[in-house]
Order: sequence, then C-alpha cells, then structure tokens
Amino acid sequence: MTKISNHLPTAELQALDAAHHVHPFTTQTELAERGARVITGAQGCWLTDSEGHSILDAMAGLWCVNIGYGRTELAEVAARQMTELPYYNTFFMTTHAPVIALSKKLAELAPEGLNKVMFASSGSEANDTNIRLVRTYWAEKGKPEKQTIISRWNAYHGSSVGSGSLGGMKGMHMQGGLPIPGIHHIDQPDWWSEGGDMSPEDFGLERAQQLEKAILELGEENVAAFIAEPVQGAGGVIVPPETYWPEIQRICDKYEILLIADEVICGFGRTGHWFGSQAVGIRPDIMTIAKGLSSGYQPIGGSILSDEVAEVIGATEFNHGYTYSGHPVASAVALENLRILDEEGVVETFGSVTAPYLKEKFEGLARHPMVGEAKIVGGMGSIALTPDAESRAKFKAPGGTVGYMVRERCFANNLVMRHVGDRMIISPPLVISKEEIDTLIERAWTSLDEAMAQVKAEGLW
Ligand code: PMP
Repeated sequence: MTKISNHLPTAELQALDAAHHVHPFTTQTELAERGARVITGAQGCWLTDSEGHSILDAMAGLWCVNIGYGRTELAEVAARQMTELPYYNTFFMTTHAPVIALSKKLAELAPEGLNKVMFASSGSEANDTNIRLVRTYWAEKGKPEKQTIISRWNAYHGSSVGSGSLGGMKGMHMQGGLPIPGIHHIDQPDWWSEGGDMSPEDFGLERAQQLEKAILELGEENVAAFIAEPVQGAGGVIVPPETYWPEIQRICDKYEILLIADEVICGFGRTGHWFGSQAVGIRPDIMTIAKGLSSGYQPIGGSILSDEVAEVIGATEFNHGYTYSGHPVASAVALENLRILDEEGVVETFGSVTAPYLKEKFEGLARHPMVGEAKIVGGMGSIALTPDAESRAKFKAPGGTVGYMVRERCFANNLVMRHVGDRMIISPPLVISKEEIDTLIERAWTSLDEAMAQVKAEGLW
C-alpha cells in the first residue's frame, strides 16, 4: 500500500482528499472539481503548499495561531506529557497537574473576579456548556424561568446545535432545525451595512438599546444572559461604534442579565489586550475561550467563570462535561503557549509596537478606490469593498461576488486573506514583523487592483 504523505503528487493527494474527506462549510463537488490546496508545512507567519509556494498567512489559520507556526517547545511539551500521562479524565473526583497549572495560569491572566475554568475541546463545545450553565445558574438561584439567552444576528458562536443556535448566521439556521428554543436575536452593530443615515454614535446606541427592548418584551424574569463577541469575527470583523458596549454593560447591570463575552477569537492578545473585554471595557460574568488558548496547536476551549457564577454552580452537581475536558496533553500545550505569549512578551509587544504599525498600514488601504472603510482593532482588521465609498454603494452583482474575486486574487498572490460577503478580513499571527506587515499590505493592494480591473471588465462596478 502506498503511504499517503507530502511526497505524493498534488493531483493524487487532491483526488484522495475528494474521494474520502468531507470538508467543513464547503460545497464538496465544487472543491473536488478544483482540488484542495495542500498545505505541507508552516513556519512563523508562512505556509508552504505542495506546489512549493510560500504563502503569507494573514488569518493565523482560523484566527488561532497567535504565537505563529513552528514553535518546537510545544511539540516537546506534548511529547513529554504523552509519555507521562497521555490521558486521564477529570470526572469522578480526579485531577492532574497539567489541568491544575493551566487553570491557575488562566485565573492569573483573566480580568479580576474570573478565577475558575470549565474546559472543553473547542469554542462550540464551550458555548454549549454556557447555555446549560447560565440556565442552571438561575435555576439554582430560585429563578428557573430565567432561560432565554439573547444573542445577535450575524454573530458566530460555533457550529454545534447549541452554539449554532446562539449564533446568528441565517444560512446555518436553515440547515438542521436551528435554533433551539429559548434563543432570541437582536440586530448587530454593523454601521457600514445597516447604519443608513445615522451617525455611528447614534447607531451604536440604538443597536445596544435593542437589548433593553428585547428584555422588556421577553420579560426581565425570563432572560438569563446576553452573549456577544467583543468584536464580531466571522461575521466580517464588525467593529462596533464606541457608544455600543458601555450601553450594553449598563443594560446587563440594570436588569441582572449575565454577560457572556465570547473571547474565542478576541482572547489571548488578538485585540492588543489579553482579552477583548478589556479592549472594549466590559465586565463579563463568563468568557468563552479557545483558539489562541493553545495557538491552535491542540484542540482546547473552555468557559472562565466569575466567582459568583462559580459559587452558585459549585453548590450543585452540574451534569455536564466532555471526555476530553481538561485533556492533559492539550492542557500542557496550552500552558506552554501561554508561557510564551506572556514571558516572551508576545501580547505586550503586539499591543504596544506591532498593532499600532499594523493599524497605520492597514488603514492606508482605505485610499484604494475599491475600499470604503478600513477598520482594525489590534490584529482584527476588515475592509469594506464598494464602488463608491461616499454612498456605501453595492456592486452590480450579488453580495460576496466581488469579495470572492479579491480573495481569489490574494490566493494567486500568495496571501491568505478571507472574504465575508464584500468585506476582506485579516487576523495574522501576533508575531508578524513590520516587514511582513509591509508585504501583507503590498499583496493586498495588488490583489485589489487586479480584482478591480476584473470587476470593471465584467461590468459589475
Ligand atoms: N466563537 C467564536 C467567536 C468563534 O469565532 C468560533 C470559531 N470561529 C467559535 C466560537 C467556535 O469555535 P470552534 O470552531 O472551536 O468550535
């Protein structure tokens, strides 16, 4: 039998992939026709594919490789942990040193008053935990009718039945009977697309006040929590107006609604702070974490709980948990990742040196004739594509057509930049250098130029 490895010709790997592998969020037949790009290795911010291309990864994988690729320390820690204790569970009154050490480190890094962690293997699982957790919290407090969780349209909280229901992606709700009962969605603070003639400040307030309206309509006594990403990621890196979050915090405080900050993308330095909650100035009761927790080197996620939530939940048997909750290898690798982010000053340097440079360069893309606005918070950036910035006009093509064209040009120019509709987004490893930022911007600009020529040639402008 031939061993399947990088040594096989690309076409052969692609054919085998198409024959046996079902990809997430993909039309399989379309991919089979075109052939998947085969990634063979990675170092720092750079990927290598089977055709020998060297590709700048401006998305850090799926927003997760915060320390960059190729840190052998993590591999060494994993090998050591696999030898010593590859697996044991944390059910039935047992524990182990890696999960204790990781929990303690997270309590140190998290904002004040968030000191306990319940683990999962992904962001989706952690958000499923949160649904049961907040409902159990209120039941334990003698308010079992406080069940409804308010979220936002175009939010992304994961792909499982529970987390997909929390999310506000209509395309996901259409498949498989989502959302589950007891989830209510309000509008997102996306001024560019939905702000009309309002100022961003007024629009931010109006969108936040939708939370208050929803609470009053549903009845304060029925609402358990509000969940949101400090800065929406998969929805297109939607940076909310500055008026938005203070008003949300005020409303959650006033009506005693638990605030869940989904930090799966925003956490671990992505916004230039350790957590996105610090960037936008909120005090969450629960933070969902994953991705940058291990920089993607191992699948691990979790929920960090406030002392109050932990105390209430801790007084009963919470019938919840996963085989891999607090997995020793994943925990050890995550801890080593946090050590690097912390002790090497990766988060600190990114926030104080790299992010300001990236902001200056990235915002320069707004001068491109096909770009309407360029917004960036730390390392989460987004440009809106438009034929007319002034009127925020749309192209003469279904939404997403032009975004896809730009993405294809980026691909051809060896830059991984993602499109969400007609927005182009970035989220590079935090270790990106100034030279690499310059390369990123140059390639993005070239790709925009090429796509613009195509848009005009096809009469879509
Ligand atoms: N929450 C947010 C904010 C996310 O961006 C994601 C993944 N993109 C998730 C949750 C789900 O995480 P996972 O894919 O690890 O289940």
